[in-house]
Amino acid sequence: MTRAVTAYVGLGSNLDDPERQVRAALAALDRLPGTSLTAASSLYRNPPMGPQDQPDYVNAVARLSTVLEPVALLDGLLGIEQRQGRRRGRRWGERILDLDLLLWGEREMAHERLTLPHPGLHERAFVLYPLAELSPALRVPGHGPVAVLCTRVDGSGLRRLPD
Ligand code: ATP
Ligand code: MG
Ligand code: MG
Repeated sequence: MTRAVTAYVGLGSNLDDPERQVRAALAALDRLPGTSLTAASSLYRNPPMGPQDQPDYVNAVARLSTVLEPVALLDGLLGIEQRQGRRRGRRWGERILDLDLLLWGEREMAHERLTLPHPGLHERAFVLYPLAELSPALRVPGHGPVAVLCTRVDGSGLRRLPD
């Protein structure tokens, strides 16, 4: 039997009914092979990172239990993005769905296709605040506890959406 690992995924959308896209993606994560959704944060509305001439984002974080290896899980995430209709445009531009693999256990790696922990995780309020809702004491390898990282970023633009 392969041992299940805890992984965290960051979700974001700012096109085509973002709240619906994020909720659909949470359900799709639970249907990935060898994977179950064990917790989901609240949804948050957040101003865009990068180009400012695009709509606000809806962001959330999911906790998964998975037997998939990191690259296989990444492929699963990219498949969900594709099935929900993501098209690739300008860097950090508008998108129907972004699914980033934040953490896979305590694994650290810098592979051509996959960096773990996700390189933006420790400096993005729209990732850290939802992650802190799920696991404040969780340590990000190389950076420290999520709750401490939250104190170093500006979360004033985040608005928690009703359930
Ligand atoms: P950012 O990663 O800074 O949030 P982005 O999410 O807009 O930017 P994408 O266009 O979604 O970037 O992804 C580009 C590529 O990043 C993916 O095809 C994937 O191979 C690579 N990548 C590297 N590390 C990760 C990771 N931890 N999670 C998701 N994708 C990753
Ligand atoms: Mg991203
Ligand atoms: Mg991405």
